[in-house]
Amino acid sequence: MTQLPLRAQLASALGRSAATLSRMTGRGDGSVIGGRVGLMLEPDLLRQLARDRKLALVSATNGKTTTTRLITSALLELGEVATNAFGANMPAGHVSALSQHKAAPYGVLEVDEKYLPEVLETTGASVVCLMNLSRDQMDRAAEIWLLAQKWRRALSGKPTHVIANCDDPLVTWGASTAAKVTWVSGGQRWKEDSWCCPECGGPLDRKDADWACRECTFHRPEPQWILDDDAVIDPRGHRWLLDIQLPGLANRSNAAMALAVAEAFGLAVNSALPRLREVTSVAGRYTTVEREGRQARLLLAKNPAGWLEAFDVSDPQQSIILSVNAQGPDGRDTSWLWDVDYRILRGRPVFVTGERRLDLALRLDVADVPFTLCGTFNEALAMQPPGRLDVIANYTAFQQIRSEFGRAV
Ligand SMILES: [Zn+2]
Repeated sequence: MTQLPLRAQLASALGRSAATLSRMTGRGDGSVIGGRVGLMLEPDLLRQLARDRKLALVSATNGKTTTTRLITSALLELGEVATNAFGANMPAGHVSALSQHKAAPYGVLEVDEKYLPEVLETTGASVVCLMNLSRDQMDRAAEIWLLAQKWRRALSGKPTHVIANCDDPLVTWGASTAAKVTWVSGGQRWKEDSWCCPECGGPLDRKDADWACRECTFHRPEPQWILDDDAVIDPRGHRWLLDIQLPGLANRSNAAMALAVAEAFGLAVNSALPRLREVTSVAGRYTTVEREGRQARLLLAKNPAGWLEAFDVSDPQQSIILSVNAQGPDGRDTSWLWDVDYRILRGRPVFVTGERRLDLALRLDVADVPFTLCGTFNEALAMQPPGRLDVIANYTAFQQIRSEFGRAV
């Protein structure tokens, strides 16, 4: 690998010191502040740090942190990998990740959907993995369509190899200007944002996983990789039982995407798959924490699609604690709660907490889901009998619960 120019070396080193200082003074993991300091001193730092490495960028509304982790785990088979494991998914976080592993020949970067064009332009990444696009707390359908249009422009005319989920029409549209695309049939749990053709606005006809526009030629491309229940079928027709430890259909889809990305890096399924099976939790998600005989599994759900995935994973036989906040990273407006169908929780003991528990309580009441309102998470936990239970929380509520357990999870 060629040496960084002196200015970039200095910027990178000072950024790392700032990160260490931030960690030592208890202000988080320091990856964002470190990257910001580095970029302030050398605005071209990300480009210089990315040079001479083979990079994969991972973007989606849901599952990008987990998929980034799965791909990283697979590529460790090939050598050292730089990655933003803590979900700092904007350029400052990318600078920090690459600075910390200056000699790593590989990099896997989770990228915020809105930053993907800029980060692709700056890093010249050779592989981009696109999984799903749905409304987030603050976005609405028109905004995610604009986002997909920006992806199209960013990918057009570049040699980037895109790995994309062809079951999501908007992702397909966003990816289809790329010179090379490997299509993965990864499923689509949340369809509410894709009933219209992104190309012409006409209605999309759906039959099983297949879809096509009734009014223009836009249709689902033929997938090379197919997620088939608990297995993946590779481009040669070979069927691999996934058998990963992360729970649920959404994670099997993430694993299918990760295997296709690994192959784009020259790593065969039989080498990549055992590495995916080693991943048990991602930044606290899916971890089980224990207190006084109660085993609580922590599930993160940041938006309507995320809640569906969490319901899919949670055990209907167990009681469930739901926690909702509305701080900055969650979106201050909780109207998205009305997009989620909570009726699936009927018949289960449901406990509601979090700073915006009254918003959630009203939503559940309208859906005829009985629940118990609790002042704090600890109060909710104390009301549980010994044994297993599930916890679903949105972003800052999830981090607060992790802190309760010392973030050791
Ligand atoms: Zn159309």
